[in-house]
Amino acid sequence: MTFDGKVVLVTGGARGIGRAIAQRFHDLGAQVAIFGRNVEAAQAFAQELSKSGAPAKAYGCDVSSADACNAAVEEVLKDFQKIDVLVNNAGITQDGLFVRMKDEAWQQVLETNLGGAFRIMRACARSMLKARSGAIVNVASVVGLIGNAGQANYCAAKAGLVGLTKAAAREFGARGVRVNAVAPGLIETDMTASMTGDQKQALTGNLPLARAGKPEDVAGAVCFLASDDAAYVTGQVLSVCGGMVM
Ligand code: NAP
Repeated sequence: MTFDGKVVLVTGGARGIGRAIAQRFHDLGAQVAIFGRNVEAAQAFAQELSKSGAPAKAYGCDVSSADACNAAVEEVLKDFQKIDVLVNNAGITQDGLFVRMKDEAWQQVLETNLGGAFRIMRACARSMLKARSGAIVNVASVVGLIGNAGQANYCAAKAGLVGLTKAAAREFGARGVRVNAVAPGLIETDMTASMTGDQKQALTGNLPLARAGKPEDVAGAVCFLASDDAAYVTGQVLSVCGGMVM
């Protein structure tokens, strides 16, 4: 699998799963555009990547703002002339019991996880469709498929992202642009760092693969879906969850 000469945009690419994804694409030869709210962290990572192999560049972008999304994608197209692969990875949780969930928590989680992916896809789609080539991979979650108590907003956003993926796959397919999603299970990152060992054990102890996932586990699946090896795969959701969902 190679991404030599390809330009890959990863939202939330400076830490966690997004960082592992950006790193893997770069290892496979890609030029990488890293989007994040924390520009310093994204710049430091881009500089680190650029020390060897293809160039990488950081862009400040809060995906909950349409203007920020449009401006940052425009900058990438100015710098790299094209976007071959888009990975919508930026995401947040704001968990709470259903009856106590504040509108703000609902809106922020929907706007980041679902609205953000929509806005970045819309900003990138024109150039991909014009080029009649491209791959989009959205980072959903197994809870968008099976639900989870205490995460109504997050489950709704991730289920919505699956619908968005399938709608875009149908709309873009004839123009050579594939759209797929991954649905990670429990992955060890900042997002899950506040869980206790017992909570993690309860979720992973009975899994067929009997462990939590690593960001690198997700990166491999994302690169596959974005690669030519998946040239006949679109509109699919690949669970990367140790067998939690099957
Ligand atoms: P994480 O370590 O908390 O990282 C979240 C990333 O999203 C950061 O890079 C952050 O960028 C970015 N981000 C958040 N809000 C943003 C915004 N408004 N605009 C731009 N970037 C934003 O989480 P993670 O575990 O790596 O999660 C990555 C993705 O995987 C998320 O979509 C998450 O829902 C999904 N996922 C995670 C798990 C898990 O168990 N960890 C399971 C299933 C799915 P800054 O640092 O710049 O703010």
